[in-house]
Amino acid sequence: MRSESAATNLRCVDCQQSHALEYRLACQACGGLLEIEYDLQRLKDEPLVQPHRTGVWRYAAWMPVQDGTNFVTLGEQLSPLFQISRLGAELGLRRLWIKFEGSNPTGTVKDRSSQTAVACARQFGFDAVGVVSTGNAASSIATYAARAGLRGLVCCYTRSTAAKMAHLAGVASDVIWYEGVYDDMIRHFDAAVDRGWLFDGGATRNPFKQDGKKSIALETYEQLGRAPDLMVYPVGMGETLLAGQRAWVALAATGRIKKPPRPVSAQSTEANTIAEAWRTGAELRAKTIGYTVAEGTAVGDMGAKGRLTLRRIREQNGLAGDVSDEETLDMQRRLAQTEGLWVGPTGAVPLAVTARLAREGKLDPNAEIVCISSETGLKGDWPQLQVRGEEPSLELIRQSLGRPPTE
Ligand SMILES: *Cc1c(COP(=O)(O)O)cnc(C)c1O
Ligand SMILES: [Zn+2]
Repeated sequence: MRSESAATNLRCVDCQQSHALEYRLACQACGGLLEIEYDLQRLKDEPLVQPHRTGVWRYAAWMPVQDGTNFVTLGEQLSPLFQISRLGAELGLRRLWIKFEGSNPTGTVKDRSSQTAVACARQFGFDAVGVVSTGNAASSIATYAARAGLRGLVCCYTRSTAAKMAHLAGVASDVIWYEGVYDDMIRHFDAAVDRGWLFDGGATRNPFKQDGKKSIALETYEQLGRAPDLMVYPVGMGETLLAGQRAWVALAATGRIKKPPRPVSAQSTEANTIAEAWRTGAELRAKTIGYTVAEGTAVGDMGAKGRLTLRRIREQNGLAGDVSDEETLDMQRRLAQTEGLWVGPTGAVPLAVTARLAREGKLDPNAEIVCISSETGLKGDWPQLQVRGEEPSLELIRQSLGRPPTE
């Protein structure tokens, strides 16, 4: 039977050695990161979209899963792409778009890579898949694992929001709550993966999992009919940026666009390792981080993925920026009130960084810019509102709307 996938081999991003297409997390020669290569001629010859399919499987040839019986889906639709003209005008940007990931089944961008992670766990014969997460990856991996009939082991820190914790505790077959931050837990998880106990659903090194996120660029291309000038990604481990740009590069290589958009990395100031290195021209330096409301960006040590992310930003003439929690929460409110889009704090970081780069004169006002809003606001990661109730009355409504007094 013909493979659904045009994937051909793995290639090391450092020494370029090619490896057979099997479950492998590092280069045998140098330990470097691996990426999947695809038959570009096939990607060029076949239609981009298989419209009868859902989620990342609409682009099955661009994904690493060979046998369609391993596909897993929760009825995903394309996430909406909105032009935000009012807010764009306020920021001095004429062609500003939001790719809103809150519409995915578990409300975040993670659902894209969870589809390929869980389908590949099946492809390689695993009965369990797992991840270390601040909340979103955990509920997403656990949800798709359950849908596929696999075990989902998720490790989550105890500082996540009540909504995220309830969600993942509800869907996961196995939960480990830990004290500390992501960086404290991940090496133990990686050791479990190295023992073959479970399929790696994490973002540190699995090339099979990452490729699901290529669909964010493929959808944007499908919706826009072209490549934007800039694509602004929230950066945690860098997967979304790396995968998105890989898809844009392949869209160019197959003649569908002239050139990929310039990638923009958007981080919280608390975890601004890429932005720091980009500004100073230095190598990536890990950082011990504390809490940030932008939980999806809360990674102080991106390791090899971080070095690759920085390299690609430099190669592709990209940009990087970071914003404080205050700027993030302010942008979350503005986006909600100006455009009706309620996103989580991490989902507001790309737009907040875009606003800051525009203020600093680093953006052409006529550039077409797509910001990824990576999560719904309904998962509640901001301080509890402190409110005092009033005596119900018609007068309250009249005053609020500024209508004339009635007798
Ligand atoms: C995980 C996550 C990110 C960061 O994604 P990477 O691909 O790891 O860089 C961004 N936003 C949200 C909401 C996330 O959950
Ligand atoms: Zn190598």
